[in-house]
Amino acid sequence: MSQRVFRFAPSPNGALHLGHAYSALRNYELAQECGGVMLLRMEDIDTVRCTPQFEQRIVEDLHWLGITWPEPVRRQSDHFEDYRNALARLQEMGLVYPAFLTRRQIRDKVNETDKKWPRDPDGAPHYPGDERLLPERKRLELISSGLPFAWRLDMQKACAIAGSALTWRESGNGPDGQTGLIDAEPERWGDVILARKDTPTSYHLSVVIDDALQEISDVVRGHDLFHATSVHRLLQRLLNLPEPNYRHHRLLTDESGRKLSKSSGDTAIGALRERGLTAENVIQKCKTGARI
Ligand code: GLU
Repeated sequence: MSQRVFRFAPSPNGALHLGHAYSALRNYELAQECGGVMLLRMEDIDTVRCTPQFEQRIVEDLHWLGITWPEPVRRQSDHFEDYRNALARLQEMGLVYPAFLTRRQIRDKVNETDKKWPRDPDGAPHYPGDERLLPERKRLELISSGLPFAWRLDMQKACAIAGSALTWRESGNGPDGQTGLIDAEPERWGDVILARKDTPTSYHLSVVIDDALQEISDVVRGHDLFHATSVHRLLQRLLNLPEPNYRHHRLLTDESGRKLSKSSGDTAIGALRERGLTAENVIQKCKTGARI
């Protein structure tokens, strides 16, 4: 059997906190247990918020924790061409369309139409525009008018093409304890964004392309991304990409029970180090889920 490949994939738009350390350590440990390898991937498609300085700090924090990985590290911003090609395939299949409503227009439209408008698992309203119905000529006209837009997946059509029995194997669990063979429910997300006029990709698209290109066998990440796996399985099916094993893990919380965020500075690994904690202390806190 070939070697199993795990990955830790932070976005360098802030400092790593205890929750990230937990995820990185889980990946690293699981890889070591099975004689596999853990890759580091920088998910920096947001070239405004992601910086080389944050990237450098992430590398330092992970090394301080004793985590190592093979070089070179894949940096998503170096590979926009790969995502552009994948988007082009979905365009050829007639599965994406340019959507022109701004965030504000989406909110207003949803408010004025119906209070029970469907929402995705993260709470955002499904896209209420109807550009998916526009004839090609009109789409091109709008694109050339220079208006900003996002490439959205026509979810209904995509699900129809993907067919039924879209599942994944969950070795961890979801936020509600889901485990084992999970039915993917991508339709819960509505017409997700796959790229923008100025950024040729989105989190969903780049993550599935990279997991395939890097031959990731095991995706280990937090509960917050459990439902996103439905979209990832759909894109894998549409683009003919292999299916990794998935393992979602609990999220560490702060004293008030809230998920740690990049703004909760006191749980940043660097801040803990400055407070005199050793790497061993931090690893122990991750293991026990101790609140800081
Ligand atoms: N880049 C994502 C994050 O920092 C993680 C993506 C993933 O593990 O699939 O939350």
